[in-house]
Amino acid sequence: MISSLDYFVELLGAENILRPDSKEEKLQDYLKDMAEYPSQPLVILRPESSEQVAKILLRANETRTPVVARGAGTSLTGASSAHGWIVLDFTRMKKILKIDTVNWYAHVEAGVVLEDLNDQLKKYGFFFPPDPGSTPWCTMGGAIAENSGGMKCFRYGTVKDWVLSVRVVLADGSTVKFGEPLPKNRVGYDFVHLICGSEGTLGLITEAWVKITPLPQKTSEHKRLLVFFGDWSSAGRAIQKLRENRIQPILLEFMDRATMHSVNEAFELGVPEGEAILFIETDSKLTELLKICDECGSTGNYIAKDEADEERLYSARMLNYMGIKSLNKSVHTEDVVVPIDKLVDYLRFVEQISKKYGLMIPTGGHAGDGNVHPSILYDENSREAADRAFADICNYAIEVGGSVTGEHGVGEQKITFAEAQLRKSNGKEVLQLMRQLKKHWDPNNILNPGKFLTLEDS
Ligand SMILES: Cc1cc2nc3c(=O)[nH]c(=O)nc-3n(C[C@H](O)[C@H](O)[C@H](O)COP(=O)(O)OP(=O)(O)OC[C@H]3O[C@@H](n4cnc5c(N)ncnc54)[C@H](O)[C@@H]3O)c2cc1C
Repeated sequence: MISSLDYFVELLGAENILRPDSKEEKLQDYLKDMAEYPSQPLVILRPESSEQVAKILLRANETRTPVVARGAGTSLTGASSAHGWIVLDFTRMKKILKIDTVNWYAHVEAGVVLEDLNDQLKKYGFFFPPDPGSTPWCTMGGAIAENSGGMKCFRYGTVKDWVLSVRVVLADGSTVKFGEPLPKNRVGYDFVHLICGSEGTLGLITEAWVKITPLPQKTSEHKRLLVFFGDWSSAGRAIQKLRENRIQPILLEFMDRATMHSVNEAFELGVPEGEAILFIETDSKLTELLKICDECGSTGNYIAKDEADEERLYSARMLNYMGIKSLNKSVHTEDVVVPIDKLVDYLRFVEQISKKYGLMIPTGGHAGDGNVHPSILYDENSREAADRAFADICNYAIEVGGSVTGEHGVGEQKITFAEAQLRKSNGKEVLQLMRQLKKHWDPNNILNPGKFLTLEDS
C-alpha cells in the first residue's frame, strides 16, 4: 500500500495539501480557531469534490486516522481543532450549484460562505436568513454542523429550520443524501436534522439544499433603533413585556455599555452608548413597542436616520465579539440560553458573578431568544476565577431549565456541561442513545473524536 501522503498527493495534487512543517504563512490560520483553541494538524487536505472527500474518509477509516472538518475555523468552542489529525478543509468547495426561484431553495457546496450566498441571492430578491456574526467568513457546512444562530433567528429560526437536504460522506467513505429540496416531505427518519448541529462527528456535509425566502419589502414603519435603559434588568423586563404583548420585531438584541464601548473604540463607529441597550429592528407597531419600553423604564432611544445609519447600528452589533477581543484579554465566550421568563433573573445573575469574581463580563446577544452571551475577560492571574464564573453560568442555565449552548455548540469547551444538561433535563438514557448512535455511524471513532460528547462516563 502506498503511504497515505502519496495517496493524498495523487488524489488532490501537492498544491492542495499543506503540511505542518510548511513555511507557508497560510499554515498559521490552521493552528487555532477564532477563540484561540490550539490545533495541531497532521496534514491539511483541500478537496474540491464529494468524491475526493469520500476517498479521503475511506483511507482515514482504513488507517484509523481521525479527521476534523473545517469550514472557516470561526468556531468559538474548539470544534474545528485537530490533535494530530487530518484537517479536511472545505474552502475550495464553494460553488453555488443552483438558485431555484420557483422551488425557493439554493443548492450549494459545503464551503460556500454565507455572505457570498446572500450576495448572489440578493440579485434575485431572495435571502437566506440565518446570520451568525461570522457571516462574512463562515461556511454553509460549518453553519449546518453547528446549527448556527444569529440576530435574525428571533424571527426566522436557526440554520436547522432552513436545511432541506444534505449530501454527507460517512466515516467509512460512503456517500448518502438525506432529505429532498421540497417544502414538505414525510418519508423516512429525519436524518437531515440529526446532521444539523452534529459538529462533524457523524458525517461530513459536502452539499446542502437550503430554503431561501423573498427579501422583505420595507414598509414605512420599518425602523432600526436603539432603546436605552439605566440597568440590565429593565431591558430584560422590556423583552418579556414585548413578548407578552405579542410583539415580535425582526431583531431584538441586548448590549451592555462595555460591549458597545469596545466596538466604538475598536471601529470608531460613534454609536450612542447606554448602561443597557436593546437593538431592535421592527416593521410594525413602533409606537406600541416604544410605549412598552417606556413602561419598563427606558431612558431614551435613537432611531436610525437613513439606510447608512441602519447599517452602522447593525455593524456595531455584528462586531460585538471583535470589539471585545480588541480589549486584549483572554475571553471565555458564554452562550447559554434561559427560558425567557427567567431572563431578568439571568441578567442579574451575570452581574452578580462579575462582582463575585471581580471580573469584567461585557454582555450582549440574542436576548429575544433568551440567548445572551456574557464574555468573561481574564488574564493569567484571573484564569481560575474565569473558569469558575464560566461554570457557574453554565450550571445556572441547567438549573433553570435552559441550555448550556444556544448556537456556538459544544466542541471541546462544553462537553461536561452538555452532558450534565442531558442527564438532568432528558435523562441518562438519552445520552446513551447518542453514544450508541455515534458508535454505529463511526465505529472507529475517526470523526472529530472527543468533541461534542464522550463515549463513556468518566
Ligand atoms: C465574530 C464571530 C461571531 C460569531 N457569531 C455567531 C453567531 O451569531 N451565531 C452563531 O451561531 N455562531 C457564531 N459564531 C460561531 C461560528 O462562527 C459559527 O458556528 C459558524 O457557523 C461556524 O462556521 P465555520 O465555517 O467557521 O465552521 P468551523 O469553525 O470551521 O467548524 C465548526 C464545526 O463544524 C464542523 N464542520 C465544518 N464544516 C463541516 C462540514 N462540511 N461537514 C461537517 N462538519 C463540518 C467542524 O468540524 C466543527 O466541528 C461566531 C464566531 C465569530 C468568530
